[in-house]
Amino acid sequence: MQIAVLKDTSDSDARVAATPDTVKTYVDAGHTVTVVKGAGQAAMFADALYTDVGAKLAASNTAAVKTADIVLSVTGGTAKLLASMKSGAAITGLLSPTDNPKYIDAAASAGVTAFALEWIPRISRAQSMDVLSSQSNLSGYRSVVEGAGIYGRALPMMMTAAGTIAPAKIFIMGVGVAGLQAIATARRLGAVTTATDVRPATKEQVASLGAKFIAVENEEFKAAETAGGYAKQMSAEYQALQAELTATHIAKQDIVITTALIPGRDAPILVTKAMLDTMRPGSVLVDLAVERGGNVEGAKPGEIVTTKNGVHIVGYLNWPSRMASDASNMFARNIKAFLPLVTAEDGSFAPNWDDEVIQGAALTRDGEIVNSRLKG
Ligand code: NAD
Repeated sequence: MQIAVLKDTSDSDARVAATPDTVKTYVDAGHTVTVVKGAGQAAMFADALYTDVGAKLAASNTAAVKTADIVLSVTGGTAKLLASMKSGAAITGLLSPTDNPKYIDAAASAGVTAFALEWIPRISRAQSMDVLSSQSNLSGYRSVVEGAGIYGRALPMMMTAAGTIAPAKIFIMGVGVAGLQAIATARRLGAVTTATDVRPATKEQVASLGAKFIAVENEEFKAAETAGGYAKQMSAEYQALQAELTATHIAKQDIVITTALIPGRDAPILVTKAMLDTMRPGSVLVDLAVERGGNVEGAKPGEIVTTKNGVHIVGYLNWPSRMASDASNMFARNIKAFLPLVTAEDGSFAPNWDDEVIQGAALTRDGEIVNSRLKG
């Protein structure tokens, strides 16, 4: 089949959906691969690395997608681009399905199948395709490194002839994929690390990484995990208890990383303005949930806000793009694991529509919106 690799940098995303390594496996398998010029540049993959493994180059996204059976992208490209694709072809990427009705309508009108990679079911068989995990893991790592850079002091304890430097205290709120990697990173850098979550399963995970678990462990906490492994929306009573606990703990922290999300809802506010006022000047909060409303009151998407008492709130967006090369490597391997589900034995493009992974990811097919999550 014909595979096209888009240049996503127009969306200020430095990642690319195929690396020279994954392109080589596609070419070796007999597929034709066309990469848009400069597609991998921002992720440190020069055009020559792609042509060396047998890819062709195209001058633009429009030129690349014209004859493609499947288009690989990070964020889907523009809705306008879909009209340039062959009817019956497909595009994969992080398509933000619930925020992008115009894009989905455009895919349906063009007869294009849109596969939203973030909607691949998180079942064991699909772990290798899990873009949410592969990208969140890097976000968790980077949040600590970035927070440490903005924090003006050292992280580990240092005992020197000139005296002792006390270790920094780092608190991670929300222990999903990003939070776990943030804990591991904070520990590696020598910080005294604590963490909290509303899901009881995380208690053991936090301990296994050598950090201390802090949470309101009442009856509601014991039932706070959904069958799918996600957090439930907690009651007002629980949130008040959690806020009380957080308030006393946070006043002593140097860096706080917040990652708390609840599927389908705004992120819960976990750190209030009043709590920020109790923190020492120079303390840093990194709010990874800012895109979904934020866990920290006053966090601003894309900005670092410094409060009156000198506390920095980091609201950077798109953390994986800050580590574009590693993020692209992971993302490209996730797509490589997905492609067999849309490939027939003879190498032609033929999605297996009976597969629950395809059904979970497919938003459109043959001019219709087909995903049950979009049909309400
Ligand atoms: P997420 O990004 O949806 O949320 C981050 C964390 O915030 C979660 O741990 C959640 O419990 C926590 N949270 C929500 N409200 C909170 C609050 N008020 N206070 C403190 N913490 C709060 O999570 P994720 O990284 O997508 O992981 C969610 C689950 O999915 C985990 O159980 C994870 O192990 C599981 N998972 C499964 C697979 C798989 O099977 N393929 C892959 C990845 C993750």
